[in-house]
Formats: sequence, structure tokens, C-alpha cells
Amino acid sequence: MTTNDEAAARARAVIPGGVNSPVRAFGSVGGTPVSIVSAQGARVRDVGGREYIDLVASWGPALLGHAHPDVVAAVQTAAARGLSFGASTPAETELAEHVIARLSVGDARGIERLRLVSTGTEATMTAIRLARGATGRDVIIKFAGHYHGHSDGLLAESGSGVATLGLPGSAGVPADIAALTLVLPYNDRDAVLAAFEAHPGRIAAIITEAAGANAGILAPKPGFNRFLSETAHAHGALLIVDEVLTGFRVGPAGWWGLERAAGETWTPDLLTFGKVIGGGMPLAAIGGRAEVMDLLAPLGPVYQAGTLSGNPLAVAAGIATLSLADAEVYQRVDAAASVVSSALSQALAAEGVAHVVSHAGNLFSLAFREGTVADYDDARDQESWRYPAFFHAMLDAGVSLPPSVFEAWFLTAAHDDAALERITAALPAAARAAAA
Ligand code: PLP
Repeated sequence: MTTNDEAAARARAVIPGGVNSPVRAFGSVGGTPVSIVSAQGARVRDVGGREYIDLVASWGPALLGHAHPDVVAAVQTAAARGLSFGASTPAETELAEHVIARLSVGDARGIERLRLVSTGTEATMTAIRLARGATGRDVIIKFAGHYHGHSDGLLAESGSGVATLGLPGSAGVPADIAALTLVLPYNDRDAVLAAFEAHPGRIAAIITEAAGANAGILAPKPGFNRFLSETAHAHGALLIVDEVLTGFRVGPAGWWGLERAAGETWTPDLLTFGKVIGGGMPLAAIGGRAEVMDLLAPLGPVYQAGTLSGNPLAVAAGIATLSLADAEVYQRVDAAASVVSSALSQALAAEGVAHVVSHAGNLFSLAFREGTVADYDDARDQESWRYPAFFHAMLDAGVSLPPSVFEAWFLTAAHDDAALERITAALPAAARAAAA
């Protein structure tokens, strides 16, 4: 039987770094990446036949757990009808209707139109182009530690793998393009106001993660998203809220829905979705006000397209996943997240390890520091060197965590009592390893 070492060596000979997305390389935790051959529910299995309780959930999409039978059946049925048509399908309209209905809370409609793409990167890239097309302006505000995919203009001081690798951005991004992105500290109202004052009439949009979840969890301070919406609009700019990670994961209507339920009445001009919307298949989307969305070709002058956009297998997985993601699913995920995050804190406290567990709905992350984590500087100011030992102790005990301290932990509706017990049983030894 092949081992993870053999699989990784073979991959490195033909794939840069042996991986198709950088964080998978275990660069910040060391050791050999686990090579997965199958997944079911809360569990993944590696090439050597070893099973792990999974807290990565494909970096978010697997809200229901891996390979939910109804989702797999929906994809199989769709596959038997044809893999891709390059034409409109009734199913993509059904998915758009479903998403628009989900984002209708009381009288409020979060979005009026939805366009499907294949990745979150495409969704945010298109949202930026739309904002520039709508306003005739070029400059974009983003926040340090937020990740919006790997398009040129959005990599500066980005979270996720860029944070894990400690990079300021990426080589290959022309300076002229990078100069159009203003990177501001998150949760800092004064910085946002100062940026609009310094660049009058030039800022097309603010793009923000609905709740920061790519430099560990950076939850928005109460009212911050509303402030962004009001400030953008007061200056003739748009607000793009990136829910690629939080959308349909933290609640039925994403983070926007949670804030609405808490009495916050802001509504973004554009929202981006990914991950859960495709239930594990390549699917993402941009949604927003009709007036802005209808600027997209063929109606308007902002061009965007995709050979595989609205792919029938991905749409089938998305419809099946969202149809199953009812209130009970969110209760289960929330409850599982609460069990694991409490056990994590208890285990680290018992070993006297300074730590903070930050939350945004059912998403949480660990930072080896005291106090709160409000922005990217806070997230980086921690004893991240403790994470590799912690991570590998968990992996040795059969629990697969994100291989970076800057990533959120993902629970699913398939994390049953047995899975949660395996996780909580592994934590004390991992906390001891982190303390050493
Ligand atoms: N936006 C956010 C908030 C994300 O978390 C991610 C991916 O992690 C993206 C955009 C990019 O999505 P994708 O990896 O599908 O391109």
C-alpha cells in the first residue's frame, strides 16, 4: 500500500510543491501532507488506509459532511444527463431562485440577481469589475488579513495561504495594479474615513469578508459592516461583502442573515458566494441589486463569462446541499462547534498555554496569545510556533486540523457524538505538546 510519504514524493516530481493549492503543502506545520483517497461524513481516509476525523471540510464546502448520499445521488443523476452543455439550464435558474429566496429576510432582499461562476476567486474578481464599471472609478479598499481569492488586485496583505507563508503579496502582480488596492487595518473606522478623504472621487468599492475568517477569525466589531455600507454609499462607492466562506455556513442566509436577525439593517450592493453553495463541486456566485448586476454582459458593458459556469453537476450538488441545509443542520453545526471550541479552550487552559479562541457564528479559530484578535496585526502577534506540535499531536491521534494556525476550524452536520469524542479526547495531549 502507498504511504503518504510515497504519495507526496511522487506528487512533488510533477506538481509544484506537490500541491494544487499552497496551504495543503504543510509548509507551516512541517511533516508530510496527508494524501486523501476518500471521505464520508466527518471522516477522511488517506492513501495508507488511515482514517481521520476531519476539521477542514474541504475548507468549508462540506457543511453536511462529506459525500452526503442525497448530494452524491443528485450529482450522479445530473452526470447521467450530460456533464456540461455550455447553454442555459432550468436547474441554474432554480438555484438562483433558491439563493435569492434564502437571502430574503422579512422585507429585506439581500440580492435580486445571481450569476454563477466556478470559483470564489472569479466571484470577487467579477464583483470588483462590476463596481468599477458601475462607478467609473478604479481604486478598491480591502482589509489586511482578508482573503478574496488569488486575483492580482486582491492579494496584497491577504489572509489564507499568503498569511500562512508570511508573504506581503505575490510576485507577478504589476505595481500599477497593486497600487489600485488600498489595504487598511480591519475594524478601523478612522482608517476607512481617512482613505475616502485622501482619494476623493476615486474609490469604486470597499470589499470586505462578511466576517474575517482567513487570518484566523477576525469578527467585525458591532456595527462595522453597517458603517462600511453607510460610508461607501456616502462617497458614491459600492460595498462588496464576500461571503464565499461564511455564506450558507454560519446560517441559512450567511453572515448577512445573522446580522439582520440581530437588528442590523445594512445591505451590501454585491455579495459573493462560494464553498457551501456548490456542496463540494466547483461553484461560486455573485449576487446583488438588479441595477448593478444588470450591468453584466449581455445586458450591460461589464464583461464576464465562463465555459463551465453553471455546470450542471455543480448546480445539482448546490441545489441538493442548500435544500438539505435547514434550521436543524445549522443547530447541529453550531452545537458541534461549541463542544469543540470549549474543549479546545479547556485543554489549553489546563496546560497554562496562553490562547484565545475567536468566534464568528459556528466558525472559530485558535491564536496562541492573550486578549482579543481584532485585526491582522493582532493575528500575527502570537506564538504561532506552538501550532506545529499541537497540529501533529492531533493528527497522530487521528484528527485532521487545518495545517495553519491562520485558518478557521470547520465543523459539519455529520460530526456526531463519536466524532466529537475523538476530537475532545485528543485535545489534552495536543495542548501538552503545545505547552512544551
Ligand atoms: N473569498 C473568501 C472569503 C475565501 O475564503 C476564499 C477561499 O478560501 C475565496 C474568496 C476564494 O475562493 P476560491 O478558493 O474558490 O477561489
